[in-house]
Amino acid sequence: MKETYFLSRTDAEGNERRMPIGIIKGATPGERITVFGGQHGTEYAGIEAAMRLFRETDPADVSGTIVVSMATHEESLMNWIQFAPTHPEIADMMLEAATGSQYIINCHGGEFTEEMHPYVICRLIGDEAAEAVAMRMARALGVGIVSLSKYRGEPPPDPSGARPAWWLWPKKGLCDKLGIPEITPEIGQVGDRDDLLMYGGIINVLKELGFLKGPAIQHPEPNVIGDRWWLTANQEGIYFPVVTVGQEVTKGTFLGEIRDYFGTVLQTVEAPDDATVMNMNIGMPVKKDGFLIWLGQF
Ligand SMILES: [Zn+2]
Repeated sequence: MKETYFLSRTDAEGNERRMPIGIIKGATPGERITVFGGQHGTEYAGIEAAMRLFRETDPADVSGTIVVSMATHEESLMNWIQFAPTHPEIADMMLEAATGSQYIINCHGGEFTEEMHPYVICRLIGDEAAEAVAMRMARALGVGIVSLSKYRGEPPPDPSGARPAWWLWPKKGLCDKLGIPEITPEIGQVGDRDDLLMYGGIINVLKELGFLKGPAIQHPEPNVIGDRWWLTANQEGIYFPVVTVGQEVTKGTFLGEIRDYFGTVLQTVEAPDDATVMNMNIGMPVKKDGFLIWLGQF
């Protein structure tokens, strides 16, 4: 059986925020999983995959219940808003959609102006059994690269107001609140709507966990990202990158530069060590302290 509805909340200004939800109730009883697409509304691969998952899955093939949030941040989807903050009303609806589930998949990727090398964030919540399941889910997703992330309190205040790179100070996730395994696939980039890697990965995780019939593809253990670098702009300017995601660079490799309108070089960006380009801004304008590129070693 399939069911659809909107969760809804009204913010302090009286604006309604909605979240379209589809529930697939399997023919066989079992556990419950929540899949979120579009917490960031310009990350399309996850939205495509979530909608396809709901549209194409036959409840006869399902054990348990699959809850799908098709557009978790509808306002950012419909208004093309990049890097949209998760408003309290959205966080509250996410909590409602995930409560009662034993697992969470929260699909992300590169925004319109971001290139992203596919990888998956595996949340560590301080519970060995839950973390082992999350690692199993990360392996089943099949992208082969995992980043471990653990909430450890809020960052010290920064005079500029900037939050440090997310892996240094990740925010508390639903998994921390609910004490259940959660993975965050980072798949897709620059408006790419190809959902094959995301959709195929989710299907394989659902098979691995027993929600869908059929054997899961047994991928090798993923590489875990170790050291990493988050490079930002020293000052406002126009950014000219010369590398691309997935590219392996060595210490000192020229990655790009920031110029003013007339050609004067304001900043030369070089690789701080041997690493792989994981994620980068391709938008021309950059602000002081704005994100340029992040590199990881694995
Ligand atoms: Zn995102």
